[in-house]
Amino acid sequence: MKDEEKFLNRFVNTFEWPESIKKPFYREGFVYATNRTIMVRVPYNDLKRVYEPVDSPKNLPQFPESTCDIELPISVLVETFKSIPQCEERRVEGKAAECDECEGNGEVEWTYEDSDGEEHQKYFDCPICNGYGKVKTKNFYREWLYTSINGVAFRNNELIIMAEAAHALGLDSIKILHLPKSCTPARFQLEPNIDIIIMAAVDVKVDRKISLVENGNNS
Ligand SMILES: [Zn+2]
Repeated sequence: MKDEEKFLNRFVNTFEWPESIKKPFYREGFVYATNRTIMVRVPYNDLKRVYEPVDSPKNLPQFPESTCDIELPISVLVETFKSIPQCEERRVEGKAAECDECEGNGEVEWTYEDSDGEEHQKYFDCPICNGYGKVKTKNFYREWLYTSINGVAFRNNELIIMAEAAHALGLDSIKILHLPKSCTPARFQLEPNIDIIIMAAVDVKVDRKISLVENGNNS
């Protein structure tokens, strides 16, 4: 692997907790890097750098057994993402129209410090929804939306991380080894020694759909 530090750090989110997962770590022969929704696993012996073992998290998610053999071309992912605006203002209704700023309450609490250094709290009408608790439109960022692969939904953010990682290795496609039927991890493979799991999403609005055929079934 050319730049393993950059490769592994792609999967890490420094805002996540516990502290131990803010960088790649060692566990039982493998090095893992995760943002809690996507996780990559590489055998320690295939890496050059030293990775420290960590106690937390105590249990790591299972990498499911291979149950399918599907080729996911990177070009298909790229075309899909390209077709989604980076950020788009869309109309929202019902529960989705609840103001995120005030959580639908219409009021926000402001804390300010007076000249004596004393803190005061006061409630104001929410400046985002003008106190209504509801908004008519919201911004939708590409990374937050969902794309399904053969009916299984994933957050674009994780698919983008995986596509960029595959591209960095010079790959044209990713192997899909398992697509779950519930809210459990799907398994992908970049190279025979580089496995990725991504948590499938359920009960989400899917924005784009990718349909692929099993290897050997193209006729
Ligand atoms: Zn509001």
